Amino acid sequence: MPVGTQGTVKTVPQDTLETLGAEIILGNTYHLYLRPGHEAIRRMGGLHKFISWPHALLTDSGGFQVFSLNELRKVTDDGVRFRSHLDGSSHFFTPEHSIDVQIALGADIAMAFDECTEYPADRPRAEESLRLTMAWARRSLDHFRAHRHEVPWQQEFEGSAQSLFGIVQGGMHTDLRRQCAERLVEMDFDGYAIGGLSVGEPRELTLEMIAETLPLLPKDKPRYVMGVGYPDEIEQYACMGVDMMDCVLPTRAARHGLLFTSEGRLNIKNKQYAEDQGPPDPACDCMVCCRYSRAYLRHLMQAGEALSGTLNSIHNLAFYLGIMRRVRDSLASASTVGNSGAQI
Ligand SMILES: [Zn+2]
Repeated sequence: MPVGTQGTVKTVPQDTLETLGAEIILGNTYHLYLRPGHEAIRRMGGLHKFISWPHALLTDSGGFQVFSLNELRKVTDDGVRFRSHLDGSSHFFTPEHSIDVQIALGADIAMAFDECTEYPADRPRAEESLRLTMAWARRSLDHFRAHRHEVPWQQEFEGSAQSLFGIVQGGMHTDLRRQCAERLVEMDFDGYAIGGLSVGEPRELTLEMIAETLPLLPKDKPRYVMGVGYPDEIEQYACMGVDMMDCVLPTRAARHGLLFTSEGRLNIKNKQYAEDQGPPDPACDCMVCCRYSRAYLRHLMQAGEALSGTLNSIHNLAFYLGIMRRVRDSLASASTVGNSGAQI
């Protein structure tokens, strides 16, 4: 899922995302709450309408951003008080408030308010953090069930409903992860996410946490790993049974001139590409690789042209979406083979 922090996947217009085959994008609750404000978005019919994206949308709970504002926040059992990074104004987020904001935004999938445990976190700290996450998951779900009918598009799309996913935390402690997963599954969310990964831990630990947690989550509901990863990681996790992932990496790296290609990572700023008339990735058939050369992309970057971020992002998104498409295709053909086998 490409990440559209402020109601935009940075530098890439919505029609281009459609051409690339993006089926769902993310919006960040914290940013949209501060600007332009969730009530303004509600009055305009919800986030789909506001950003003109008639496809699936997911909003995070705002928790991750709030917790990354280390110096500006104060956590209590009730919620989190934080200062806006925009103007220093003081705000208080509770699980109920996060859900209210997400209902006003009206994304197809909303997320429970959780505390993203930092890394490293010792056991007492991870336990305390998990206690909050589990209490907040219950409160998020209760409030969501009582208010989910208040989405801005309810009358227009009667019969469709917003979903709420729970988030498994527990730091890098497998027994805490298990405890959290079991508790959330009892609560019966519409889908489950594994959060608190990609927070600075070594990659083997990310893999271990996913491998330990995934089998505890129901296979017939979406299983989502938040905030990952590099191209080879997302392929590996998808093959393990992960259904959804989001990451700013393809677009953020693109704006810094880093392209992911079939030949590995390519830093388009390098001088060796100054007169390279080959496509960014010879194996890629995206609209950028079909039309532009490495030399031109390098020039745009060197000249500080806005188009640079756009073209680099389009290629990286095409590369990421291509990986997932291949994984889906291989799963589909594997299941076809399986089915015909069963018939025989
Ligand atoms: Zn390409």
